[in-house]
Amino acid sequence: MKLLAREFELIERVFARASKRHDVTISIGDDAAITRVPAGYELVTTTDSLVAGTHFEHGADPVSVGHRSLAVNLSDLAAMGAEPCWVSIALHIPALDEAWVEGFAAGFFALAERHNIDLIGGDTVRGWLAVTITAQGIVPEDAAVLRSGAHAGDALYVTGFPGTAAFARIFKDQELSKSFEFPEPRVTEALALRDMASAMIDVSDGLDSDIRQLLRASRLGAALDVQALPVEARLVERLGSLKAAELAMFGGEDYELLFTVPEHLTQKLAAVTSDWSVPVTRLGTLNDAEKLSWILDGAVYTPREQEFRHFA
Ligand code: ADP
Ligand code: MG
Repeated sequence: MKLLAREFELIERVFARASKRHDVTISIGDDAAITRVPAGYELVTTTDSLVAGTHFEHGADPVSVGHRSLAVNLSDLAAMGAEPCWVSIALHIPALDEAWVEGFAAGFFALAERHNIDLIGGDTVRGWLAVTITAQGIVPEDAAVLRSGAHAGDALYVTGFPGTAAFARIFKDQELSKSFEFPEPRVTEALALRDMASAMIDVSDGLDSDIRQLLRASRLGAALDVQALPVEARLVERLGSLKAAELAMFGGEDYELLFTVPEHLTQKLAAVTSDWSVPVTRLGTLNDAEKLSWILDGAVYTPREQEFRHFA
């Protein structure tokens, strides 16, 4: 359905902000946006949707929805080793609720501005509440980090504490609620890792699933110690160490980086990451076996608890 004139004014007022980037020729207001990719760089493009009732609860804080819808896309660009630049939004909204749109924009722009990203266009239509964002970034030619680049013998690492976001969502934990509502995409960390990482993926579906994706793409395997998983202390206190580890494996929505580094670069990695506020944990070493095994107390462990599987 066509937007009314006053609704269109609201969209323009909330979303059409002066362009801050010198590489944006035409932004919101024309039929399409025009941007310039610097010589020697490649354009990296990703799209992710958040749908009410699937990816966030009906009635969720619009500031969080605005933040997350951008964060999940920035996380994908980061996992390629790309620097984020430009974003467009397709907003499906049942009614043009001014407070909701303003809350959404507040969450969106707070994150966008921290990473020097311009909103260059979008579309607004009536429908069930859903947000689709297309994000574009740049990477020097041939410098992108793919899922498929790992070699046997490379070390496997993860940033942060997987499982925390799922814990916050499932148990409505106030203290950890930010990890689900306002995940911090690892943009600067990914750029620092780009020259060292042989393969990279972001943890969205769940650590177990995303490790398998990386291993499949690189045609490799790993035997990983369950007890080497970095887990937030609060999860262990509430669930015990094994259930907490399973939540780390299957919870999802962490938006952490999972990456591999050749053994000869692991000291350099330790030096680069030593002053980061986010921890970087070595999970193990990749092998030729083309399968993932979890090891607990020296024996292969098959996680039986499927209750924490990613809900979307
Ligand atoms: P068109 O009919 O050409 O698609 P629209 O009326 O949908 O144009 O949009 C007008 C301008 O506003 C376009 O530049 C479009 O990119 C921008 N726009 C519309 N909705 C949004 C939104 N939710 N976020 C950002 N820009 C938007
Ligand atoms: Mg349109």
